Amino acid sequence: MTLRIEGGRVLRPDLSVERADVRVDDDGRIDAVGDLDPRENEQTLDATDALVTPGLVNAHGHAAMTLLRGYADDKPLDAWLREDIWPVEAELEPEDIAAGARLACAEMIRSGTTGFADMYFEVDALAEAVSTAGLRARVGYGIVTVGKDEAAAREEFETGLAVAERLDGAADGRVRTAVMPHAPHTVGTEYLAEFAPRIRDADVPVHFHFNETPAYIEEVQAETGDRPGAYADDFGLLNDAWVAHAVHLSDAEIDLLAERDVAVAHCPAANMKLASGIAPVERLRAAGVTVGLGTDGAASNNSLDMFEEMRDAAMAGKGRRERRAPHRL
Ligand SMILES: [Zn+2]
Repeated sequence: MTLRIEGGRVLRPDLSVERADVRVDDDGRIDAVGDLDPRENEQTLDATDALVTPGLVNAHGHAAMTLLRGYADDKPLDAWLREDIWPVEAELEPEDIAAGARLACAEMIRSGTTGFADMYFEVDALAEAVSTAGLRARVGYGIVTVGKDEAAAREEFETGLAVAERLDGAADGRVRTAVMPHAPHTVGTEYLAEFAPRIRDADVPVHFHFNETPAYIEEVQAETGDRPGAYADDFGLLNDAWVAHAVHLSDAEIDLLAERDVAVAHCPAANMKLASGIAPVERLRAAGVTVGLGTDGAASNNSLDMFEEMRDAAMAGKGRRERRAPHRL
């Protein structure tokens, strides 16, 4: 059955907004936009006073962290993670994560998001929530080896690879996967060296936190002598990848991201909340890097609303450059 979305303000590909009806065909594709007469056996949705737009995509997050929203505010990233977030996450049960993921799905639907990327643990529970909610997601298990013994560290990689294989294509293809080593400084070099060939062979994208703070970059440099970009590239982790944050980048790293066609999930609210800095979005875009937007987890935002994220991205960008972007809408 076709669907006629009636009387809303429609966002067009050229970013203009006009009042129009939209017809969606049986396959969920936009069939026509304009002044459309109702058809027989057609479902109608009244969109008066609403914006009609394709579903938004949240390019980086941790859905179940809706449970930790506001848990620890006004702290820098590293202290926030080590003193507050990681200890409380260790106490979470699978049913907690399932509940947090369902709450995140509801929150995203309410604010217009239909697809999202997610890194966490208990990924099967998240995939189930995505399936039930009717959303689309690219999911993965966040592989962390710091503070773990050898057996547990290897188990992290095995879990990450198994999840990527098991869940890819679930929910009639609405769930896709990625291999997600948490970040270059939270995954040991010896394990990356061991597992990199299997990550590359997994035939799904790679996703990780990248250059979020200067301290994390220094950790990688002290350990390996390289900045995280060159380090990750040595293991082939920039082939078919997108990264979150990319706040502190050298010119060489921007060129490398462009060369490897690595997309960036810009997370301005999380970067501002955790005092990490503001990503050089203009330089990335000028170099040809694709930049999407992500809310990160609700605990570091404290919202999953992509319209708020768009506003934050615009304001942070203008604040960083001290000049106004052209006003288009
Ligand atoms: Zn994150």
